[in-house]
Amino acid sequence: MQRAANSMSVIKSPTENSGRVQKFAADRMLGKLAKWLRAMGQDVIYGQHLSGYGLIRAARAENRLILTRDRGLKKKQPPDFLFVESNHYREQLRQVIKACGLNPLVNAFQRCLECNLILQPRSKASVENMVPPYVFSTQENYSWCPKCQRIFWPATHHERMIEELKGLEID
Ligand SMILES: [Zn+2]
Repeated sequence: MQRAANSMSVIKSPTENSGRVQKFAADRMLGKLAKWLRAMGQDVIYGQHLSGYGLIRAARAENRLILTRDRGLKKKQPPDFLFVESNHYREQLRQVIKACGLNPLVNAFQRCLECNLILQPRSKASVENMVPPYVFSTQENYSWCPKCQRIFWPATHHERMIEELKGLEID
């Protein structure tokens, strides 16, 4: 009973904002912001076709929050959107994190930065011939993207990105 009570206390309420994943549609001017949001585990569609009415259609089809720097968009009767104020991705990230109540680290590195798909775990044995030998000999945990089929492992660039995400935490 005691154990059960303790473990219950650490389970997050589903209504808690910090670990939630928001669905976004980022306009084509916001590629760097889109990648950083994906690094945080957020569900972001982004592409050259996503501007103006194309962006509005895509957002409406999947009930996504639009991120845009296009001041003219609001005249086109878009669904919910967030006007991104800054030109710089760090400021953009801060604005989105704050506006949507996101936690930068809780869901970090669960998604392919290129494809936006959730990464799937792979056993070490199954990647032996797919990663460089020095990686295989030093890393234990692997995942892969079912779309681009790239294999991922925790690497130093993740550490740098984590430092950067930590630096964004909002007071
Ligand atoms: Zn991928």
